[in-house]
Amino acid sequence: MQQLREDKDADRHEFQFSATQFPVGDNQHPVICGTCGETFYADRQMHERTARSIDEGLDNPFECDDCRDETEELAHRDQ
Ligand SMILES: [Zn+2]
Repeated sequence: MQQLREDKDADRHEFQFSATQFPVGDNQHPVICGTCGETFYADRQMHERTARSIDEGLDNPFECDDCRDETEELAHRDQ
């Protein structure tokens, strides 16, 4: 049971968005919000995922908390 609970926490942590406006802790890699164009700092994993998508000509997958909140709000309003 202990193992199960740890796995669940790990999954949730991976989904947790943790970019910050300033370099803090693991967040030492600049990423640019695809919606507002502001620069944020993310960990290496997030930075690499964002850079790879842009290299492949895909949309910037990174969206800051503010923009994401707004997107979710808009989605709610449409329903
Ligand atoms: Zn943004």
